[in-house]
Amino acid sequence: MAKRTATKIIVFRNPLGYWKVPQTLSAWIQRGDRAARRPGMLGLAVLLAEKAAFEAEVEVGGVPQRRDYAILHGQKRGSFKGSVDAVPPRDEHVIADNTPREGIYILIQATICRRLILRQIFQNPVHNVPAAQCCDICNPKLFDQVRPGKLVRASRQKGIRKGPPVDSVRDALFLWRRNILKTKYPGRYFAANAILDDATCELLASVSPIDAIETPEQLLASSWSRWEDLRRQLFVLKGLDIPALPPPPPRQKRSPPNAGNSRNRSSTSRDLSAAEAPPPATRVSLNA
Ligand SMILES: [Zn+2]
Repeated sequence: MAKRTATKIIVFRNPLGYWKVPQTLSAWIQRGDRAARRPGMLGLAVLLAEKAAFEAEVEVGGVPQRRDYAILHGQKRGSFKGSVDAVPPRDEHVIADNTPREGIYILIQATICRRLILRQIFQNPVHNVPAAQCCDICNPKLFDQVRPGKLVRASRQKGIRKGPPVDSVRDALFLWRRNILKTKYPGRYFAANAILDDATCELLASVSPIDAIETPEQLLASSWSRWEDLRRQLFVLKGLDIPALPPPPPRQKRSPPNAGNSRNRSSTSRDLSAAEAPPPATRVSLNA
């Protein structure tokens, strides 16, 4: 019989629910350390770093960076295809007492063994971890265990109509997120805005009809970090009475070219049609 193994995953993110590099290197070490604490246990700690972290200044008064600096320092490593995992070693930064944020950016932008850098910063003893298990620079194949899936372009997100926000829907969303904060996260110190931010409430209140299950999914599945946790609760929206958007105005025929005084005429025709037509419904791209 095959031996069964279990993989435990711990995810840390900031209180607002999005990814950002920790404030200091020691904060990251404390979090990464929790991947495997028992002797004999193996763990992988993955730091998801935003692009700016690969461009952040790591030395006070350092020289200006070249344009491809972030890529040369690992910005695209660990991607789906793995074609840019290898990174040639470059001149490493000098670690000083005034190195910003304890050197977390030095660790992120490293092109040499990351344990070596930690040893220099924290004066750790020499480690005896084999290269195959050391870090992603000593062994880029470690990425194979944590690679993201293929990036799916959000083509099906196009074509949702948007109109003026409906106050009752927005108010219901504000109430909903306050209730979720109270019932699902009691005692937490973040605000209801961290559950579902104001801009998303505004967007959800501006689309119609929202009572179709596809609409919230199209809008939120790839951009809202709490989608998997809270999507079922969000469907309370299905019971809301949301007026349908007015139909889009008919397209105006263009004036024939070379018609006399065409500039003035077309201007008048636009003004009239705007006055007679129902309020326009715009189409939004959800990537915006
Ligand atoms: Zn290493």
